[in-house]
Amino acid sequence: MCGIVGYIGNREAAPILLSGLHRLEYRGYDSAGLALLETLGAEVRSSGFSSNGKRPVDNGQRTSDNGQRTTGLVIEKCKGKVTALETLAQSTPHHGTVGIGHTRWATHGVPSDTNSHPHTDQSERIAIIHNGIIENYLSIKERLAARGHTFRSETDTEVLAHLIGEYYSESEIRGTGLDSHVSELGHRSPDAGHRTLTEAVRLALNEVVGTYGIAVVSADSPEEIVCARNGSPLVLGVGDGEYFVASDASAIIAHTRQVIYLADNEMATITRSGIKTRTISADGLSGGNEEITKPVERIEMELEAIEKGGYEHFMLKEIHEQPRTITDAMRGRILEEEGNVKLGGLQNHLQELRRAPRLVITACGTSYHAGLIGKYMIEQYARVPVTIEYASEFRYRNPIIEEGDVMFGISQSGETADTLAAMREGKRKGALALGIVNVVGSTIARESDGGVYIHAGPEIGVASTKAFTSQLTVLSLLAIMLGRMRHLSVVDGRAMIHALRELPEKVQKTLDDTERQIMELAESFKNASNFLYLGRGYNYPVALEGALKLKEISYIHAEGYPAAEMKHGPIALIDENMPVVVVAPQDDVYEKVLSNIQEVRARKGHVIAIATEGDTKIHALAEQVIYIPETLAMLTPILSVIPLQLLSYYIATARGCNVDQPRNLAKSVTVE
Ligand code: GLU
Repeated sequence: MCGIVGYIGNREAAPILLSGLHRLEYRGYDSAGLALLETLGAEVRSSGFSSNGKRPVDNGQRTSDNGQRTTGLVIEKCKGKVTALETLAQSTPHHGTVGIGHTRWATHGVPSDTNSHPHTDQSERIAIIHNGIIENYLSIKERLAARGHTFRSETDTEVLAHLIGEYYSESEIRGTGLDSHVSELGHRSPDAGHRTLTEAVRLALNEVVGTYGIAVVSADSPEEIVCARNGSPLVLGVGDGEYFVASDASAIIAHTRQVIYLADNEMATITRSGIKTRTISADGLSGGNEEITKPVERIEMELEAIEKGGYEHFMLKEIHEQPRTITDAMRGRILEEEGNVKLGGLQNHLQELRRAPRLVITACGTSYHAGLIGKYMIEQYARVPVTIEYASEFRYRNPIIEEGDVMFGISQSGETADTLAAMREGKRKGALALGIVNVVGSTIARESDGGVYIHAGPEIGVASTKAFTSQLTVLSLLAIMLGRMRHLSVVDGRAMIHALRELPEKVQKTLDDTERQIMELAESFKNASNFLYLGRGYNYPVALEGALKLKEISYIHAEGYPAAEMKHGPIALIDENMPVVVVAPQDDVYEKVLSNIQEVRARKGHVIAIATEGDTKIHALAEQVIYIPETLAMLTPILSVIPLQLLSYYIATARGCNVDQPRNLAKSVTVE
């Protein structure tokens, strides 16, 4: 959700912010904006960045009375994508070496120019960008309105901007008046005895209920960016005499690899000479307003990993990366001889895992589908009961956690708000909380008691593909490990490992053999208004995932169902216009699925079957058959999902949809 980027240094901020916003656009893209602290009367190197000045809030005093340079706050924002902001920003020059930028994923108020971030306070001298939701914004808004504040937008964020402004200006009321605090640079001098921007932000945040990642700048304190986090990720970048803030590292990786991760209830004041971090409020772990020292960490991420590499869309690139990402998920983890696996991040918890009476998996969206398959794998091979639950449900009911239960939270981003909250709730109830995440250093990774990285590399496409198959690879490793702790023999363990090792090649073969056929298929089905996806056993969650992919990027209504459930309702939908995708590899339930295909055919539905290579029987039944190589039943989802990913991709592109930025969706769901 939403992208935040900020810069303070000696270079022009605007181009850095705009390129950062492009990298973050997958997080939310209904509007974009930036705020610059423009130094007036000073010499600034030109970078070609300009603005047509159509929508700037520009309340900066241009020159002080004595003709010295002063600072103005310039805001450019508009509905639409980052390119629209870029166009807006390309006529009248605005220069500044401090600024903040945002891509929005609307929660409060429709996407519009006015609701776009940055938002300003009553004086229009403070600007804020925000990721998250201020839950008590209405009561604060009413209180401030009674004090004469007027609001321009419908957002919760603007209310926070006003609240910060209120705390910042309070010092003027208490002090000797603004004039005495204005330094020759046109901003209040730090020794004037008034409240700092940091303090004003901190006090405001102490009144706020909700989630936020924010960055704040003020024309009256132009040598700093204040940022804070509670529930929405923020990473600070440490450069050479320059600093960055971003909601994820991809926005700043082109400039620095040295980062500081802010944790919840932490804030930072960033100047050109460094970063100061402190806590926001007393929370049981710390008193509020305590200075803290945070480690600078190095991120290992290649720039090319977040670029399209010749593919038309990130999604297609990521689909094609799967032979490699599946290999990476296994790398260094297999103990061939022992028919076992070693997962480094779980080594300290082997006792708990061995004794666990039950595992609880919690996740959202595609990760939830991976978790469902994980349940089937673990119950079959380790014979440990596994419950799986949507994180958003788990967190708000009163789930039962019993002595010894081990919880796994699955999240690509490691920032999914509901999954994080569910894991915290599980922990509070005494569970050991382990993560299966992709993004190294993400909040779930940091807060878990242990866990496993899936090592899929940055996933930028909003519709998750490679993260899903990597999650499945890790879950199958987990099933082997838990199985070997219990009933699985070394011989069976070896056989499973052998099958796993062969997978990347089979994924490659699936891609090579099916892509063209699926492109053609997509042309014939692109105008369908509904799709049904059916599967059984391990491939029932694949049916759910196939339907989800199609909905996400092509906006065709699709339902996934366990094939046998069809007769309890969905069969009523089947007629000659309904395409039905049936995942039917030759496993234990194959014959049953064939009967389900017959039922669809009897009602004139169009069957597209995903079947095992060499299966001639199914050819007589289904109109279209897409073949995948044979593998162990447990691993079939890793192959059978590939044609479904491709089908949704090619249908979406045939319909002219924006695959990487589907409407209403955003990557990394950091709001609940
Ligand atoms: N709640 C804020 C809004 O609707 C922030 C949304 C976001 O995270 O992008 O503007």
